[in-house]
Amino acid sequence: MKYWGLLIAKIVAIAGFAWGANWMTHRFLRIPQQTLDYGHNPVGTDLGWTFVTAFCFLAICGLCWAAIVDQRYRCRTCATRLRMPVATGSWGRATLFARPKMEYICPYGHGTMNISQLQITGRETPEWDEHGDIWKELESIGSSRD
Ligand SMILES: [Zn+2]
Repeated sequence: MKYWGLLIAKIVAIAGFAWGANWMTHRFLRIPQQTLDYGHNPVGTDLGWTFVTAFCFLAICGLCWAAIVDQRYRCRTCATRLRMPVATGSWGRATLFARPKMEYICPYGHGTMNISQLQITGRETPEWDEHGDIWKELESIGSSRD
């Protein structure tokens, strides 16, 4: 739930930025005379409006990209940034047996994410392996010995 809540919060923040940029543009940029006379859209006919609109569009695209990339490297349970990247596999035996992967782990032990470093058949989605409760697992190890 935290994972999707964080993504929604990022989208809302980006929408707020877009709304603020639109408000600032209309507040501080002079409206061209031809817009006032003929009702033309100033974007595409006025250089200042076109430049500011293009800059805002690129900034919003960049923020969306950063939000998606940041979200990909977060724990699916607690939305904490995944840490401790470990390279596994081998490039020498990459075709069949030990494909090279990068493993990230949640610092609170919720799960592990495996990202394939070799993507022959196109872009692969990362594998998320959710761990069980580590305390129950430790208790079961202790109780099985008795
Ligand atoms: Zn976690």
